Amino acid sequence: MIEGRYFAMLGPPASGKGTQGRLLAERLGLAYLSTGSRLRREIEKGSDLGLRAKTYLDCNQYVPDDLAIELVHSWLSRCSEGWLLDGFPRSLVQARALMETPIIVGTSSDLPIQVIHLTVPAAELRKRVTTRRECSNCGATTTSDHQVCPKCGSAELIARADDSTEGFEKRLQSYQSLTLPALKVLQESLAVHTVSGLGSRDEVSLAIQEKLR
Ligand SMILES: [Zn+2]
Repeated sequence: MIEGRYFAMLGPPASGKGTQGRLLAERLGLAYLSTGSRLRREIEKGSDLGLRAKTYLDCNQYVPDDLAIELVHSWLSRCSEGWLLDGFPRSLVQARALMETPIIVGTSSDLPIQVIHLTVPAAELRKRVTTRRECSNCGATTTSDHQVCPKCGSAELIARADDSTEGFEKRLQSYQSLTLPALKVLQESLAVHTVSGLGSRDEVSLAIQEKLR
């Protein structure tokens, strides 16, 4: 039995954190927020937030901290029952915001946010990124081996625009220089569970559940 209700899933690009985040959120009945896919959807809608985010995402840069924090705060204020964040916090400033925000602190006096840190060697990430596809209907990630989305059956599977080799290297570099230091700070106050992201979807999912027990 897993007790936690508040999770942040961190990992390098193509580590599988989106897939694993969704799986865990479904299993535990948590609200799920992927900051990356939410921002891509805002851009498609042409919203104010989307327009502000677009220039950064187009260059494979992290969006500024204030924008990411605004997105997450407005979302968290609507789901106090339990949530899983995918792709947040990505920097030191965001990590501090997650630990200090009144919305979150208000949910419990000793808020048990748990961080799941997926690790995958860079060579494997590079291999994965070339075959990754995203469902434009439900946002699930899959591989080019699939003809239809395994989750919703849609045939609209597209390569993500940010999955070019150059874009990937840039995001991996940002992860190493910005997110890994944030992880160190999170580790000082929160439980951080490091799990290998190597293996099948089900194997990794099981490894995560075992760590959380
Ligand atoms: Zn789908």
